Amino acid sequence: MAKKNAGDILTSDWNPVIGCERYSAGCRSCWYLDGIFPWQQRLGNIPPGVQPNQHHVFPSRLTEESLKGKNGIVGIVQHGDLFWDAVPDQIIFRILEIAEKVAGAKRKVPKYMLWTKRAERMARILNTRYPHGLPNWLAVAVSVENQAAASDRLPYLAGIRGTRIIMLEPLLESVSISRFLPVEWVVVGSETGESPRPIDRAWVASIRDETKAREIPFFIKQLGTSHKVQDRSLDGRTWDEFPVGFEK
Ligand code: SF4
Repeated sequence: MAKKNAGDILTSDWNPVIGCERYSAGCRSCWYLDGIFPWQQRLGNIPPGVQPNQHHVFPSRLTEESLKGKNGIVGIVQHGDLFWDAVPDQIIFRILEIAEKVAGAKRKVPKYMLWTKRAERMARILNTRYPHGLPNWLAVAVSVENQAAASDRLPYLAGIRGTRIIMLEPLLESVSISRFLPVEWVVVGSETGESPRPIDRAWVASIRDETKAREIPFFIKQLGTSHKVQDRSLDGRTWDEFPVGFEK
């Protein structure tokens, strides 16, 4: 799915657990709660009794076998937020254990990406699990939508040693990230879905300038209000830069 869309940064995703509840301003048009969950439940892939804001584990997916066939850049738990309070620590540690075994058995180092708004919990768990820094197959992304979220969450990202990504999506106002750099990648995207709040290209240009001043790869996912229409151009070009070792 992801491979066909030039604006998507992932090759595929792995969702052994699902679930989340709205957390901040960026959650208003949640892709998972409003789109993926009802669609997957209609298809019968999620049991009928499970609610969208309920943590649910798929035992058949919480296995090495289920992750093994996924290559490239793999998003771990895209259907929800792995660091939501309702997800027990032992499930998170189990997911990391499976990812470590599968990554270690591959000839080419994969890139497994954790992606959250709950940066404090992610940092606490990862710094416990990897006190000497993240392994080379693991990357971590923190999403922020406005300056307050950036100031609140990005210091926790800065406290993790390893491949770190700032994800500004949906970008809802002008945000400066310069004091949280360097990181290994900066990605920007607009809001899509029901009644999207439009992005201002000047906000994006300013983030790009802060990012490129530090020679950090910069990627634009989309700038329009519909993910069905490719609108990714800024100042006459697309921004499709990936960090070294990331191959979609
Ligand atoms: S944190 Fe992510 S998955 Fe959870 S409600 Fe917000 S946008 Fe949706």
